[in-house]
Amino acid sequence: MKKKINSSFFLIAVLAVILTMTLASVVFYELFQEQVSADLKTYAHVLCAMYDRADEELLAEQAEIEGLRITIVDPDGTVQYDTNADIGGMSNHGKRPEISEAMSTGEGQDIRTSETMSKSTFYYAVRMADGQVLRVAKEARSIWAIVGNVAPFILIIAIGLMGVCGVLGRMLTTNIITPIREVANHMNDPETVQIYQELEPFVATIQEQHKDILKSARMRQEFTANVSHELKTPLTSISGYAELIENGMAKEREAVRFAGEIRRNANRLLTLINDTIRLSELDAAEEVGRREEMAFEKVDLYQIAVACGQALQINAEQHGVTLTVEGESCCVRGSRMMLEEVVYNLCDNAIRYNNPGGFVKMEVGINAEGVVLVVKDNGIGIPAEHQERIFERFYRVDKSRSKVTGGTGFGLAIVKHIVTQHGGTLRVDSEIGQGTEISVAFQPCL
Ligand code: ADP
Repeated sequence: MKKKINSSFFLIAVLAVILTMTLASVVFYELFQEQVSADLKTYAHVLCAMYDRADEELLAEQAEIEGLRITIVDPDGTVQYDTNADIGGMSNHGKRPEISEAMSTGEGQDIRTSETMSKSTFYYAVRMADGQVLRVAKEARSIWAIVGNVAPFILIIAIGLMGVCGVLGRMLTTNIITPIREVANHMNDPETVQIYQELEPFVATIQEQHKDILKSARMRQEFTANVSHELKTPLTSISGYAELIENGMAKEREAVRFAGEIRRNANRLLTLINDTIRLSELDAAEEVGRREEMAFEKVDLYQIAVACGQALQINAEQHGVTLTVEGESCCVRGSRMMLEEVVYNLCDNAIRYNNPGGFVKMEVGINAEGVVLVVKDNGIGIPAEHQERIFERFYRVDKSRSKVTGGTGFGLAIVKHIVTQHGGTLRVDSEIGQGTEISVAFQPCL
């Protein structure tokens, strides 16, 4: 970019210099011509007046002083008198443009350039009272001769100017580029540098993306650390029990218990891995913006709640919890499988974080917010300071309770992901020891 700006500056400077020089030469020569012609005109008229009274000697004298050539031509074109040449050898002048013009209109002029182009002769002719024409001529250098003469100076000036333009261009480019470079070097603390107003939106977008990239890198790092940590515990248990059996330290009855522990831990590993895969699938879908591409269909949220209630009935009974589903048919646009996942996770949590004798109530209805699913329980509740964070991956209020009941800390993260992808909203209302109410609202399907 710097190179490009630099060469553009230089090119503009070179063009400007050449154009200015050419134009200045042309204008100067025009003015010069006008001046010479005007002078000649004055001389011609003065000499005309003098000629009536004076003789040819006076004309010769004047011609000498002013550096002019004076010619007197008869009305038939014969040269009567010439200060510079022998009139005997001179041809008829009647056809010369300035003379024929003077004969017909009273005065005439012309400029003729010599064969070598080095000189121009300016002519001015005036018809006198007796019909004779008096012509004055002055030789001057032609534009080419003038340009040729000053060309070395012009060249030196042009080279000098180009040099100055080159240096100025370089300074200007550095001036323009420096703030942009500064911004690039201070992406983390943009307040410390001053940027062009025109670049502000551009820089703001880049900074936003920069922050996003840093955030996602940090999250990925945390995620990897968390997953490794989560996988380590069941694997250590499996390895420990297997070692006991291997060393023959487990009696027959114990061996059965150990095998049970191994199976339980292996199942936990499977759940963890499945949840991780599920979340990364959801992430990938979001990243490529497949929201439109996803096969969204018309889904009855109430039906899903009823089916989920039936599937979790036994589970609820095992926890001593009463599970009920209320409401009416309400349609939303979405992925059936994903919405089932949302309802299942919310209901499963409400059972797991409950107390024996408690209840879980699912309700589907339509209100000002849209189609709303409410999952309410009178379980252990979530402390206010944790409510914001329960949708984060791996976040658990009470790690051991979550683990004992088969939780991974992924359930609500998956719920949030899916609800966001469906353009819905989530709300948590919970009081410790009183219970929890989580509601999800979607746009109704038309
Ligand atoms: P987990 O697999 O641990 O259940 P979730 O992401 O589903 O993970 O939930 C995150 C945490 O939120 C849980 O560990 C639990 O502490 C809390 N939580 C979720 N639902 C409820 C609920 N209905 N009542 C009380 N606490 C809940």
